[in-house]
Order: sequence, then C-alpha cells, then structure tokens
Amino acid sequence: KKGIVAIVGRPNVGKSSLFNRVIREKKSIVEDIPGVTRDRIYGDAEWLTREFMVIDTGGITLKDQVFAKEVKIQAEIAMQEADVIVFVLNFKEGLTNEDKMVARILYKTHKPIILAVNKYDKKGSENDMFEFMSLGLGNPIMISSTHGIGIGDLLDGIVHQL
Ligand code: GDP
Ligand code: MG
Repeated sequence: KKGIVAIVGRPNVGKSSLFNRVIREKKSIVEDIPGVTRDRIYGDAEWLTREFMVIDTGGITLKDQVFAKEVKIQAEIAMQEADVIVFVLNFKEGLTNEDKMVARILYKTHKPIILAVNKYDKKGSENDMFEFMSLGLGNPIMISSTHGIGIGDLLDGIVHQL
C-alpha cells in the first residue's frame, strides 16, 4: 500500500504550489461543476523509487464556514488519513497566531510531522529557522516551492518517515 502524505497549513503559505511541485502531473483542477471549482487534492508522487500519495488539504473546503473551523477540519483529516504530515509555514510572514492554531491541533497526533518553511527564496543565515523551532515540532526544512529550493531535502525527509 502506498504511503499518504498530507500537506497542511493556513491559507496562502504555498500548500498548492508545493503539491504541484511534488506530484507527477500538474493538473490542479479535478472537477468543474458550474459555479463550483474544486481544487484537485490527491496526487501521485515518487522520490528515489518510493511511490506515495499526496493530499493538499487546503483544497478541502466547506461552504459557509469560518476560517478556524475549516483549517481545523483540514488538519483533522490529515491526522486521520496521512502517514506523514507536512506542516507548511511562510518564511516571509514569520510565525502567526493562525500557524499556532494549526500546531495546537497537530500536537494531538502521534504521526510524524515535518515542518516546511516555504517562501525561503534566497538561502541565508541558519538563524532564520529559530522562530519556527519554537513550535516544538522539530527542525524546519527551508524550502521555496516556486524557486525549487530545498524540495529534495523535504522529499528525503518524507520518504525517510514513510
Ligand atoms: P495555499 O493557499 O497554501 O495553497 O498557497 P498557494 O500555493 O496557492 O500560494 C499562495 C501564493 O504564494 C501564490 O501567489 C504563490 O505563487 C505564492 N508562493 C508559493 N510558494 C512560494 C515561494 O516559495 N516563494 C514565493 N515568493 N511565493 C510563493
Ligand atoms: Mg491551495
């Protein structure tokens, strides 16, 4: 059975960009019902001969729900379905209260969590990661989904946990 990797995080951190970079096919829309556009949320991925499935939980949306509820449900689905959870943060904005809210939900799982600090477009000082370490979820992997930085390190970390 293929392992399942769920990508979680508050909106706009770059979950879908990371998802698109990791999956083989770059199709981002799965269904187009008039008036309803649903993001494609499942994709097949492969790294170093290991095959796994990726879920973009940001594509799971609920009608008429407040942000907090939606992100909570996305994180809970990830905790149930996934073998490994990738928690995406935004380097440009730093750690926010919304990130801490996601973290509080994730603290309840015993599944492996990998922190991926995205939008790290230019490599710099290692000190940049200390803020994110305060979550207590381990050392982050610094990545840029749009520039392709750190993706190999992240995938190494993922397949190591699968
Ligand atoms: P999501 O809401 O978490 O799925 O975030 P998206 O993947 O839709 O990305 C939100 C915005 O951030 C888009 O405009 C992306 O192009 C941008 N973005 C994603 N990854 C990066 C990155 O590594 N660097 C920069 N500079 N922008 C990024
Ligand atoms: Mg998205």
